Amino acid sequence: MAQKTNSRNSIGLYSPVTDVKGVGPKKAEAFLRLGIEKVADVLDLYPREYEDLRNKKQICLLTDGEKAVVTARVLRATLGRGFGRKRTLHVLAEDDTGRMEALFFNGTYLLPQFKAGQLFRFFGKVKAENGRVTMFHPSYSAADPDAQDGILPVYPLTRGLTQKDVRNLSGKALEHLDELRETLPATAIASANLCGIDYACRNIHYPEDDGPFRAARYRLVYEELFYLDTALALSRTRGGRGRTGRSFDTSFAKEFTDRLPYKLTGAQSRALSEILADMQSDKAMNRLVQGDVGSGKTAVACAAMFTAYKNGSQSAFMAPTDILARQHFETLGKLFSGSGAHIELLTSSMTSAEKRRVLKGLADGSVDIAVGTHALISDNVVYKDLGLVITDEQHRFGVSQRETLSAKGVSPDVLVMTATPIPRTLAVVLYADLDISIIDELPPGRMPVETTRYDAAGRNNAYDLLEKEVRSGRQAYVVAPFIEDSEALDAYSAEALFEEVKSRFPDLKCGLLHGRMSQQEKDSVMERFYSGELQILVSTVVIEVGIDVPNATVMLIENSERFGLAQMHQLRGRVGRGVHKSYCLIITDSDSETAVERAEIMCSTTDGFVIANKDLEIRGPGEFFGYRQHGLPQLRLADPVKHSAVAVQALRDVKAMLAKDPSLCDPQNAYFAECLRNKYMQSDRLTL
Ligand code: ADP
Ligand code: MG
Repeated sequence: MAQKTNSRNSIGLYSPVTDVKGVGPKKAEAFLRLGIEKVADVLDLYPREYEDLRNKKQICLLTDGEKAVVTARVLRATLGRGFGRKRTLHVLAEDDTGRMEALFFNGTYLLPQFKAGQLFRFFGKVKAENGRVTMFHPSYSAADPDAQDGILPVYPLTRGLTQKDVRNLSGKALEHLDELRETLPATAIASANLCGIDYACRNIHYPEDDGPFRAARYRLVYEELFYLDTALALSRTRGGRGRTGRSFDTSFAKEFTDRLPYKLTGAQSRALSEILADMQSDKAMNRLVQGDVGSGKTAVACAAMFTAYKNGSQSAFMAPTDILARQHFETLGKLFSGSGAHIELLTSSMTSAEKRRVLKGLADGSVDIAVGTHALISDNVVYKDLGLVITDEQHRFGVSQRETLSAKGVSPDVLVMTATPIPRTLAVVLYADLDISIIDELPPGRMPVETTRYDAAGRNNAYDLLEKEVRSGRQAYVVAPFIEDSEALDAYSAEALFEEVKSRFPDLKCGLLHGRMSQQEKDSVMERFYSGELQILVSTVVIEVGIDVPNATVMLIENSERFGLAQMHQLRGRVGRGVHKSYCLIITDSDSETAVERAEIMCSTTDGFVIANKDLEIRGPGEFFGYRQHGLPQLRLADPVKHSAVAVQALRDVKAMLAKDPSLCDPQNAYFAECLRNKYMQSDRLTL
C-alpha cells in the first residue's frame, strides 16, 4: 500500500489541496470546480478585483455607489423578517464618524459571527441614501487593529467556498513560491524586461502596490501571448521544416492573368506576387489572403492553381458549403477553359459512382484540380501529388481540417482565403501561424451599395424599392433569420416570408432556399436564380458566403436584429457585384440599442475592416466569431486588442527565440517547452 508522504507540516506547492488545514472533501470538491486540485493551481485563479485596505474610509465620507473598505465596531446584529434560515441579518456597526448597516440575506447562520463590541472590516458597494449607509453582502473579516494595510485579492467563488477559504489557499501557495520554476525563457524575460514568475504570482494575488501589480499583470499577459504565439509558430513550421519544400516555376502565372477577361487590380496583383514568391521559394507556403467580399480572391487563387497545374502538381480547392463548391466549380470551368486542366467536383451529395470516378482520377493523377467541400478531406481521398491546398472562407473551417487537407500532400503550399477582415491587432494573435496578404481594393466600376434602415412602418417602402428593381430586370434576395415559424414567435421565417412575397407579387417568380432542403432542391433553385429565371430568392443565411450573381441588386434583410454585423456585411456582399447600382435594405422593428447601432454602422460604411473593428468593439474579442472556432485556448488576462503592444513584443520575441532554437531543444528552453506541451496538450488546436 502506498504510504502517505505528505504530512500536514510538509505541504508543498504540488500537494493536493486536501493536505491543507481546513480543506476537507467538501471544500476539495468545490475547489475542483474552479479547476484547483493541487495547491499550485490556485496561482492560476486570478482575482477578479482587489480589496484595497490602504483606502479605508470613514463612514461619514462614504458616497453612494462606491466600493470601499470600512473598519467598524459591531453595535448589534439582529435578524429581520422571514422564516428560519431565510431571515435577513442586519449588522449595525459604527466608527468614530458614523454608523452603517451591513445586510446579509438568508443570513441566519452568520449571526453568531458578529458579536457586539468586535471590530470588523467590511468591503463592498455602498448605498448611501437619506443619511443611511448600507452595504449589501459585503465581504468581511474580523479586523486586527495591528494588521498592516495591504491589498487583498477578491476571488471568483463557487458554492461551498468563502473568500477566506480561497485566500487561505493562495496564501499557502505564496509561502512555497520558491518551488516554482520560471515558466518563461530567460531570453524573453530579458528582452521584454519582465519580472520573474514568483514576483508576478505574489503581486497578482497580493499586490504590494500599483507599480508591482502592473509589472505582474504585464508579465502574465505577455506570458499568455508568448505561449500562444510559440504554439502557433511551431504548428506552422511543422510540416514544412525538414522536408523538401516545393519550388514551383511561377512564370506560368502571367499566361493565366493575361487570359482573364479583366485586368487584376493593384491589390490583387500584390497579393498574387506574394503568393508566387512563396510558391517559388522552397519553403512551404502558409498564407492567408484577406479580402473584402467581392474583392476578387477567386481569380488570384486560380492563378496560383494554374501555376501548380503547369508544374505538374494537383490542387485542392475547398469551400465551406455545397453551393459554394459548385459555384467555384463553374467559375473555374470558365476561367480554365482551353487551359487543358482537368477539373472535378467532389462533394458528399454526389452519387457514389460519381465520387468513385473522381477519387480514381485524383489517385492516378488524371485530375489536376479538385473543387469541393469537406469531402476533399475524407479518409478515402488519396491524391497522387497534392501540391497546393486552398481553403475558401477560412473561418468556416477549423484549423485541424485545414491541416488534414494539407497532410494529404507532401509539404503542399497552403493558401487560406477569407472575406472576414480581422482587425490587425487580432490577426497578429490569431494568425501568428500564417503570413497575411490583404486585398483592400475592389475591382473598378463598383458602386457602393446604398444601405438603408427601415422600421416596421417603413417595411412597405423597402418592398416597393425591391419591386421597382426587379421589374426593371434585376434580381433580389430576401433573407430571414429562421427557416420555419416555430423557431421563434417574433421573427420572420423564410417559409412564411416566401408565402408573403409570393402573394405580394403574384406575377413575379420567387424561389425559396434554406439549409434543410435536399441538395437536389437547393441546386435546382440556385440554378434557376443564376440563370435569371427566378427573380426573387427568399432564403436563410445559406447564401451568406460567396454566391455570385452580378444581376442581383437588392439584398433585403428582415429582422436584422437577429444578425451580427459581420454576417450582414457578408449578406450585403452578395449585391453590388455587377455594373448596376445596388441596395441593401435592413428592416428591424427592434429598438434595442445594439440592433439600432448595428444597422447604423451598416448604413454608414461599406468597408469590411471598419465593420470588423466595430464588431470587435461591440462584442469583445472573446465573442468575436472565428475566435472560439479556432479552438484556441482561452486567454484569461490577455486581450489581444487592448494589449496589442504586448502582443507585438511577444511575437517578436517568439520569432527571435525560434530563429535560434527552432525545435526548443536548447536546455535553456527545456522547462518552457515542457510547460508549453502541458498547456496545449488537451487542445485539439495543436499537437506539438
Ligand atoms: P470574392 O473576393 O468575394 O471571392 P470574387 O472572386 O467572387 O470575389 O469576385 C467578385 C467578382 O468580381 C467576380 O464576378 C469576378 O469575376 C469579378 N472580378 C474579380 N477581379 C476583377 C477585376 N480585377 N476586374 C473586374 N472584375 C473582377
Ligand atoms: Mg469568394
